[in-house]
Amino acid sequence: MTRSLANMSLSPEHPSITGPSDPEVDPRASYALEPDMVEALTDRIIATSGRTVPSYTPITGQPVANIPQSTQADVAEAYDRARRAQAAWARTSLDHRQSVLLRLHDLVLDRQEEIIDLVCWETGKARKHAYDEVLHVALTARYYGRTAHRHLDPERRPGVVPGLTRIDVNHVPKGVVGIIAPWNYPFTLAVCDGLPALLAGNAVVTKPDAQTMLTGLLGAQLLEEAGFPRELWNVVAGPGRELGTPMIERSDYVCFTGSTATGKIIAAQCAEQLIGCSLELGGKNPVLVLRDADVDRAAEGAVRASFSNSGQLCVSTERLFVADQVYDRFVERFVARTEAMRLRNGLGWDNDMGTLISQDQLDTVTAHVEDAVDKGARVLAGGRARPDLGRFYYEPTILEGVTPDMTCFGEETFGPVISVYRFHDEADAVSRANEGEYGLNASIYSRDTARARQLASQIKCGTVNVNEAFAATFASIDSPMGGMRQSGMGRRQGAEGVHRYTESQSVATQRLLRFAPVLGMSDEMYAKVMTANLRLMKKLGRA
Ligand code: NAD
Repeated sequence: MTRSLANMSLSPEHPSITGPSDPEVDPRASYALEPDMVEALTDRIIATSGRTVPSYTPITGQPVANIPQSTQADVAEAYDRARRAQAAWARTSLDHRQSVLLRLHDLVLDRQEEIIDLVCWETGKARKHAYDEVLHVALTARYYGRTAHRHLDPERRPGVVPGLTRIDVNHVPKGVVGIIAPWNYPFTLAVCDGLPALLAGNAVVTKPDAQTMLTGLLGAQLLEEAGFPRELWNVVAGPGRELGTPMIERSDYVCFTGSTATGKIIAAQCAEQLIGCSLELGGKNPVLVLRDADVDRAAEGAVRASFSNSGQLCVSTERLFVADQVYDRFVERFVARTEAMRLRNGLGWDNDMGTLISQDQLDTVTAHVEDAVDKGARVLAGGRARPDLGRFYYEPTILEGVTPDMTCFGEETFGPVISVYRFHDEADAVSRANEGEYGLNASIYSRDTARARQLASQIKCGTVNVNEAFAATFASIDSPMGGMRQSGMGRRQGAEGVHRYTESQSVATQRLLRFAPVLGMSDEMYAKVMTANLRLMKKLGRA
């Protein structure tokens, strides 16, 4: 186990931390350079190309690891291994699979420091945001560990002839599930979608994002330590556009999390193979603060909704609609809370927001803010890159006066930038919240929770949180999660999250009566008897 780095900070108190080429930026090099740990993790990649690609921490720019790259033949090998392992795994009892999941729950909590360190190191996010990943994996493991029989036991359903037709519905595993994961929540998004797949008796081949491979591999290591056979969870590494197609061609189902543009490519390829997929994609998520909202609570929630993981969170908000009656009070408190955030680029708990992950992300955020400001938007807080904190660091930023001609009005920024809008009536707020192509997550702040729930039903988003930013739905694992419209297809979590990895198989057992004329009855007489029977069944209230 690696030692915790939580007390090591790259805050402004460490003025030597200025950029990637600074040779002084090395107080945690022991972490990045612990060769045993890196080797144990990268050994898990099925890769024979002999090529490696270096990855770097966004915190300092130091190299993290050289990642062996998989070939298309390695992808084929990963699927062969998975298929063999799946055949044996599908024969294990549900009780056994449950117990492994519950062991994983404990293991993840016990090893949280190590997980959090690695997540922070690879992504640059604040420690508390990395902890959210630990929490989510533990919650998901416990949920599916405890509800396995509810979701997966064969179900009895009413047959066509009461008492004589018995229907059993079996939940049969699909086989091998391909999981393609992004970099923003690399522990939970690499692991959580796979847990119900394994529970249902499937095997997994997964490709974590190139920037966060080690975290995905640590997830694989923990799964094995919990008791999942090693070949049940196979990891390949390389560019998505090269490995995606051979993965999809061999998968029985694909679970993808990432951008809408890539999601459409994946969906088209899955259609070609006639296999199902779930797509968890982008968002431009709205928050509504109604006139009767608890303004302090809404301001606190808005900070988390906007700036968790520097806004690089699929369910974080980029649009804030505030009722006229509370607009000034709310904005004043939201700005004050934002300006009070502790900005650090390091691994300690004393950090409210970390760095963006890459130059690409910084370029997008900078371009969106510059475009908005050039066209007349006002910066209420932030609005600057912070190279003094880290080369990809950008301040939490609040914009006012954003108009439809500005890029950040409708496009996903995926960064710490939020636009605040005033509204006069709720119907108008709902219709503005529903503008655009996305429909992932929304929040409504109001003291009248019944009214808020009623408004929620009018919002075209897959999840709506009342008086909370996003965590209430995200952490309630029984609640299905996913996007409407361009934000995705299918749902993770809950019954939907596990049933997507199964085929429903109906087994009918028929007693006595046959579905054909008997005792010399003519077809015409049979039709009359059946018609009378149908009428009777409806009168008796049968479904
Ligand atoms: P991305 O689509 O570029 O990459 C995601 C993954 O897909 C990576 O592993 C990448 O290697 C792979 N990939 C890229 N091209 C591929 C191809 N042609 N075939 C197969 N795989 C391919 O997304 P990103 O920029 O890394 O992630 C940010 C986006 O993800 C944002 O839009 C964000 O909203 C979205 N996201 C959504 C959720 C959700 O649950 N809805 C969660 C996290 C991120």
